[in-house]
Amino acid sequence: MVDVSDIFLCTRCGYCCRGETTVSLDGADQVRMITSLDMRERDVREQYWRISGNSVQMKIVDGYCIFYDDGCSVHNGRPWRCAQWPLHPSILDDENNFLTISESCPGIKKEIGYERFCEVLSKIMQDSVVSC
Ligand code: SF4
Ligand code: SF4
Repeated sequence: MVDVSDIFLCTRCGYCCRGETTVSLDGADQVRMITSLDMRERDVREQYWRISGNSVQMKIVDGYCIFYDDGCSVHNGRPWRCAQWPLHPSILDDENNFLTISESCPGIKKEIGYERFCEVLSKIMQDSVVSC
């Protein structure tokens, strides 16, 4: 029996929610976020999104995603790319991806070693979708 906490425990460092841009929201992300916020679409667009052509991202406030508040305040409605981080499937393909991601994310339990990490991650991915 394995558990996400065997390989990852979010420290809420905020690194993945910080920057001048955020991940882009695809159509399903937009619907999920609107539903989760229980708001009218036009209000969500105005209040939370930065829209440029076909690109929809979340606004940045003080260097962080607008939803960052010592953690993700739109957790159930966050974009799929946010939900995927940091247990990205590319970790299974290449140890360099594991090293790169673990450098960015202090929640990764890199001390257990790459092989064991992949064993657990593979099992978790077979069982369910994982997220932070
Ligand atoms: S997922 Fe990783 S980078 Fe993001 S807040 Fe948690 S520990 Fe920090
Ligand atoms: S939606 Fe949540 S997890 Fe994604 S960048 Fe914003 S605060 Fe972070």
